Amino acid sequence: TVDRNPPGEELREEYAQLAEEIRAHRIAYYQDAAPTISDAEFDTLFRRLEEIEALHPELVANDSPTQEVGGEVSSAFAPVQHLARMYSLEDVFSLDELKAWLDRASAGVEQRNPGATIAWLTELKIDGLAVNLLYRNGELVRAATRGDGVTGEDITHNVLTIASIPQHLAGTDHPEEVEIRGEVFFPTKEFAQLNERMVAAGKAPFANPRNAAAGSLRQKDPAMTAERPLDMYVHGIGARTGLSAGTQSETYDLLKAWGLPTSPYYKVLATQDEVMAFIEHFGEHRHDLLHEIDGIVVKVDSFALQRALGHTSRVPRWSVAYKYPPEEVNTKLLDILVNV
Ligand code: NAD
Repeated sequence: TVDRNPPGEELREEYAQLAEEIRAHRIAYYQDAAPTISDAEFDTLFRRLEEIEALHPELVANDSPTQEVGGEVSSAFAPVQHLARMYSLEDVFSLDELKAWLDRASAGVEQRNPGATIAWLTELKIDGLAVNLLYRNGELVRAATRGDGVTGEDITHNVLTIASIPQHLAGTDHPEEVEIRGEVFFPTKEFAQLNERMVAAGKAPFANPRNAAAGSLRQKDPAMTAERPLDMYVHGIGARTGLSAGTQSETYDLLKAWGLPTSPYYKVLATQDEVMAFIEHFGEHRHDLLHEIDGIVVKVDSFALQRALGHTSRVPRWSVAYKYPPEEVNTKLLDILVNV
């Protein structure tokens, strides 16, 4: 609920300080791949900023961290304008919050498309780095990081070293133009070995596979990227011309047929109970996967309903990320550090 009294001096100060702190952490995380606080600590700061803004909407400026996709663009890479904007995701941190979100999205759909049923596309939230692949008539012409969602960094040469990303799509009937979004990740199994090698070479180990993926992909020399066992799963579509699918999951079938790496883990579910069961299942099995996850992403599968719900300036209204509670320590990393 909005507080009708103007914010006091103390709150204004807390707000300004928080916003500045969050900006600095975003630079350390996205641009330098060297965060100084944990994701859970960052999420707590971000939540507090959202809380203050909910109480005092008059404080929200266009450049507030809540209004922008967080990625910074480094001048070490050529800038690339995405054809369609790339977004972040709204986070929820409990099953109650998720239920409230699912109810809200359902009500939003009912209001705009009375009687429509929603299929929930439920996926793992891969802890990696978002990339945007532009294919024209089946040829990869450009690859970029998400950046601030409007402008990313050109990493085409580095992406071409990733074995699972095709330069030429298989099959025929490719769209004239399509932006395919996915997450590049560092496979969990190879991560511990990489850190052992880094330490043996007298270099600082990576804090987690996400930083290893970002650090490996954003190399000036593609030969360095080629030495890292990076992989990718697709999880979204941007601008498209000549693509006929009506749902995101049907699109995944097409992408798979063209040789793009789709996740083996996603499901199309009909009920909220099934979504909750999916979350519980992967909460128990999060360490048995090929890559790290920090949550589950739930999407409205139909493109027509996605369009009906639309976006804010930072996140789609048809998708949400449920974050698992943070884990205490990365024991593998701890082992390595103790052994240094
Ligand atoms: P986010 O990671 O919460 O969610 C958005 C991103 O999730 C998308 O851009 C996409 O790349 C990714 N994603 C993974 N799997 C996906 C799937 N199946 N479908 C769709 N998207 C999928 O948001 P963000 O804006 O990238 O960054 C916020 C995250 O980064 C938070 O977890 C935050 O804790 C962390 N962060 C940490 C620090 C720090 O200092 N530790 C600083 C900034 C951000």
